[in-house]
Amino acid sequence: MLHTNLSINEKGNLSFAGVDTAELANEYKTPLYVLDEERIREKCRAYINSMKKYFGESAQALYASKALSFKEIYRIVKDEGMSVDVVSGGEIYTAKEAGFPMERVYFHGNNKTDDEIEFAMDCGVGYFMADCREELLAISRIAGEKGITQKIIMRLTPGIDTHTYEAVRTGQVDSKFGTAIETGQAIKMIEFALSLPNISLDGFHCHVGSQVFDGETFCQSAEIMIDFIALVKKELGYEAKTLNLGGGFGVRYIESDPHLDIEKTIEEISVYVKNKCASAGVTMPRILMEPGRSIVADAGLTLYSVGSVKTITGYKSYVAIDGGMGDNPRYALYGSLYSALIANKADKEASFKCTIAGKCCESGDLIAEDIMLQECEKGDILAVLTTGAYNFSMASNYNRIPRLPIVILKDGKSRIGVKRETYEDIVRNDM
Ligand SMILES: *Cc1c(COP(=O)(O)O)cnc(C)c1O
Repeated sequence: MLHTNLSINEKGNLSFAGVDTAELANEYKTPLYVLDEERIREKCRAYINSMKKYFGESAQALYASKALSFKEIYRIVKDEGMSVDVVSGGEIYTAKEAGFPMERVYFHGNNKTDDEIEFAMDCGVGYFMADCREELLAISRIAGEKGITQKIIMRLTPGIDTHTYEAVRTGQVDSKFGTAIETGQAIKMIEFALSLPNISLDGFHCHVGSQVFDGETFCQSAEIMIDFIALVKKELGYEAKTLNLGGGFGVRYIESDPHLDIEKTIEEISVYVKNKCASAGVTMPRILMEPGRSIVADAGLTLYSVGSVKTITGYKSYVAIDGGMGDNPRYALYGSLYSALIANKADKEASFKCTIAGKCCESGDLIAEDIMLQECEKGDILAVLTTGAYNFSMASNYNRIPRLPIVILKDGKSRIGVKRETYEDIVRNDM
């Protein structure tokens, strides 16, 4: 099957992390997110171990927690020794409430508000990934008011165009993130950062986008970043201690997507980085990488109940489910492809071509179009695979539909990670 934590059991049902998904749907009701804790832990270990092995002990793997943020995930990744990326006050608060060590938190975002900057400093966030001039000024001023020196890493855009969805590309020169190297603006920004009090520049950051399947793209951005480190060393006499090469490691959503071997890819990048540092005459910096999607995506799936099967004679068939763009907006946003199957008929042939429709009042509320499923009817359970990343974290209450719970599986047992929202939750802040 698509991932090794999926199989079909003796009842013909889809089994996930060794647990019968039809039984889970029955016990916890649908719609429901399910997470395989062991898979998340395996992924954390794959990054941590290969980064230490190939980049040395100082290297660090950061979990980009915007992919999936709730308290228990911070406890799991902390337990595995990961650091984390956060992108908002809300993510910082969640990590803090979960007891995540704040010195291992890296604060991203292209427009951190002054309130967020202040909150992050009060929490003791380790590093700010500084985006622009206004932000440098604000960090310097607020750190001064608090009598601290804030460590920062400067976000730069290496000018790499990844072959990925438009909306998730971030490394090209006209990106809304960071400062462009190509235009000469980055070196001026570094000069400015070095001139400001109360901040300490630790190094540089880049992130070229998401769903990258080759080491080559990371090597290309490493080349530009290391040349830039050498340039800054020569021009400004400052040598970066840290180089963050970003995240974006690709994940398989459909059978035709490639497999990305984490260890091999990191080895490939490390060989390149070491040679490049030597030839550019710079000291090998501490290397950071920040995978999000690839830590959690295939550790998740979503279970729905089929409500109707509607065939428009001569046109198409719709399978309507009890969730949709509120819990998974990725098809509506980017046309992202998914694999799905009928969990309680997983051993049957997928011979029914259909479109999976959500329940929102919006024609674009679809999960997949022209996908092959098992023949199904009202009451069957639909499993949409690989929904661990950017589903719960992107969920909304559109149409005042309560958000789904998260059930975590570990050692064949299940527990609730996030409770299902109630109607009372939905009106809680309404006056
Ligand atoms: C989103 C993001 C990541 C993680 O990207 P994935 O595709 O989920 O691995 C890493 N770094 C930054 C700066 C990001 O914005």
